Amino acid sequence: MNGDSRDFLYKYALQNAVMHNNVPKAGAVLGALMGKHPELRPHAREYSALLGEILAEIGEMNSDERRTRLEELAPELLEKKEKKKRETGLRPLENVGEEGVVMRFAPNPSGPLHLGHSRAAYLNDYYIRKYGGKYILRIEDTDPKRVTEENYQLLLSDVEWLGIEVSDIVYQSDRMDIYYSYGEKLISMGGAYLCTCDSELFRELKNSKQECPCRNRGVEENLSLWKDMLAGKFEEGQITVRVKTNISHPDPAMRDFSIFRIVANPPHPRCDGLVYPLMNFSVAVDDHLLGMTHVIRGKDHIANTRRQKYIYDYFGWEQPTYFHYGRMSIGDIVLSTSAMKAGIASGEYTGWDDIHLGTLKAIARRGFSPEAVRNAMVDIGIGQTDINFSWDNLYAANKAIVDPIANRYFFVPNPELCHISGVSDRIATPLINPNDEAKGTRTLTFTGDIFLPRDELVDGRMLRLKDLFNVRVTKSDDGFSLEYSGDSLDEARTEHAQIVQWLPKDMAMPCMLHTPDGIIAGVCEPDVSTELNRVVQFERVGFARIDSVSETNVSAYFAHK
Ligand code: GLU
Repeated sequence: MNGDSRDFLYKYALQNAVMHNNVPKAGAVLGALMGKHPELRPHAREYSALLGEILAEIGEMNSDERRTRLEELAPELLEKKEKKKRETGLRPLENVGEEGVVMRFAPNPSGPLHLGHSRAAYLNDYYIRKYGGKYILRIEDTDPKRVTEENYQLLLSDVEWLGIEVSDIVYQSDRMDIYYSYGEKLISMGGAYLCTCDSELFRELKNSKQECPCRNRGVEENLSLWKDMLAGKFEEGQITVRVKTNISHPDPAMRDFSIFRIVANPPHPRCDGLVYPLMNFSVAVDDHLLGMTHVIRGKDHIANTRRQKYIYDYFGWEQPTYFHYGRMSIGDIVLSTSAMKAGIASGEYTGWDDIHLGTLKAIARRGFSPEAVRNAMVDIGIGQTDINFSWDNLYAANKAIVDPIANRYFFVPNPELCHISGVSDRIATPLINPNDEAKGTRTLTFTGDIFLPRDELVDGRMLRLKDLFNVRVTKSDDGFSLEYSGDSLDEARTEHAQIVQWLPKDMAMPCMLHTPDGIIAGVCEPDVSTELNRVVQFERVGFARIDSVSETNVSAYFAHK
């Protein structure tokens, strides 16, 4: 192995570490390298060993140091990455007027918002920020069966957390008279009719492309039935208003769909009428009256976009420009409101912010910043292809935000109390944040007895106690004994000593770390208790949000490595 290969590997690994803001695994670096340079495959074994050493060295640097080093050694590798970063973003919109765009985020208040909703919220927000204009939060609450007082609160608090630039809030339940008036217009124009058929009968007729007997009622009779419908002379299920489309349309879903219905129960928390518009009608009327220029919605609304075209055409309105983004699956995380609700009721989940859920409340509790969710969603973009949501991307987006600011602490999981022999008392002063040395240091006083992660104690192994010294572990019948083994970092490197976090016996506060895989009991630095609601980095463990603090213990929620 010559010096050139080492240099080459060093630069390559360093570039990787800078690019991902993380120390990569040797296997990953090697895989990528061999992919790009198949001619190096015969050297895979030697490179692998060398990479192990190099990555350990790189692991000792903080992210600023890595960047500076790469800048010195190979500035061309640094530029590549930054250039790429500047190019990311969503494609420009067409049909943007002088005043910018008018767009909307239109959730139903049927439960808390989850990651899926954040995509619509942030994609729209992206364009409002880019072009200026208006961003309307439209609360689509015309289905009394899905609306409760609690749901409004959940929705508003989630929207606030998202931090989107909302200019107006519109409640559809405040606009019932508008829908009634446009409904009446459509009936008067002969574009809609009152249908009193049994719904089963209508479905059969529709499926065989046959008109129902109500379709040819005259306008006067339709208007009189409409008045009776509004006056409460019909029961739920007895009557509906249908748009006259094309009864032999190849897609049965387009045939004379319903636009108003009666819902008697449960009562709506915000309005008293019994007649409610269905979403295709209220959405079409609102998108037009509120002046939407562009609509970004999920692919599951493609059929609705087509249905709504009938309404636009009757009124002679021009449709906005639509984008339908593909489906996004989020692993096996539960997103359905009813399933979450059932899980909370049965005690399977602790609440809407249970760490196992994909709600924004759960994401917030784990210490993800809304900005990270925004970046991850803009990264996913507006394409129609179905995708799997990548948690790793969200972790990376969040890490880019919290890494520069999060204070560092030691958290020792599954702690084992150990005595270190052969060394006198010391004071260790690890940096509060290696990215920002001005923040200073913390003070950990070593007086002989310390807590160490039990899993790191292996007979014969050398450990490098972070910011302290090396120790050698020996296992005997009485447990482990640890002996001071010098201060030299070089020696630790040569021995491939694991660097471990530790805590003085008298400076250890019980800490429960909640992770999706269970709770890890450990001890942390007492100063962690000053970080309530903030994200910290537990060195070598990962980033976590401090969720609650008492005199005697701390509870933290794990975000990511
Ligand atoms: N309220 C609908 C939803 O949350 C969105 C309506 C639309 O994009 O037209 O799926």
